[in-house]
Amino acid sequence: MMVDGPLPTMPEGNSVLVVMAHPDDAEFGCGGTIAKWAAAGKEINYVLCTSGDKGSSDRNMSPFRLAQTRRTEQANAAHALGARDVVFLSYEDGTLRNTLELRRDIVREIRRFRPDAVICQDPTMRFGGNRYLNHPDHRAAGDACLDAIYPSARDPHVFPELLLDGLEPHKVREVFMSTMQNPEVWIDVSECFERKLEGLREHKSQVGDRFDQVVERIRERSRQVARAFNLSFEMGEGYRYFRLD
Ligand SMILES: [Zn+2]
Repeated sequence: MMVDGPLPTMPEGNSVLVVMAHPDDAEFGCGGTIAKWAAAGKEINYVLCTSGDKGSSDRNMSPFRLAQTRRTEQANAAHALGARDVVFLSYEDGTLRNTLELRRDIVREIRRFRPDAVICQDPTMRFGGNRYLNHPDHRAAGDACLDAIYPSARDPHVFPELLLDGLEPHKVREVFMSTMQNPEVWIDVSECFERKLEGLREHKSQVGDRFDQVVERIRERSRQVARAFNLSFEMGEGYRYFRLD
């Protein structure tokens, strides 16, 4: 069954949860959307599966110290976009898997935040074009998040231990799955593109000394994408959309 009429570019409800594998994934993939929705008054919170503790080519950098740095950067980036809380599940970067443990941890946060809509990654995206292989953690995070939304978060008999913590079942109504693979919803982020860059700038350990190059690359890529998909605007972020009744 397909949703009637044009697909929404703004969630119906007020509360949005963003579930991502690594610090900076949200800002790169959906930073414009988050800034736009936050400016429209949506309450946005993040759940990060890892703390990005392997995201450095410096052999002298300890994963523990990097995790601390990247958690701070991620919290600052989320705030720069207008989001509120960031929760870290602290799984190891680079080896994330769609386990029942990860699913339960995401269910716990869904039941706690009780979002109307969730933004997550696309578990079916193996590669993009011929210059991009998708990170396995992104796929695992996307898989675990979709499995958490349906059916685990809404079914009381799944993870009954969560009920003991007072975490009642919760139905997520809308899912915006961030993807470059046949997106069916494009959100025009031209107006809040600078704000997206402000979020990205906070990830200093990742973009610090080459921020200007990163910005140029993102701008150029966004323009290529807009041309390739015949968009009527210059900067867009693409999603698959699901409405769950
Ligand atoms: Zn990532």
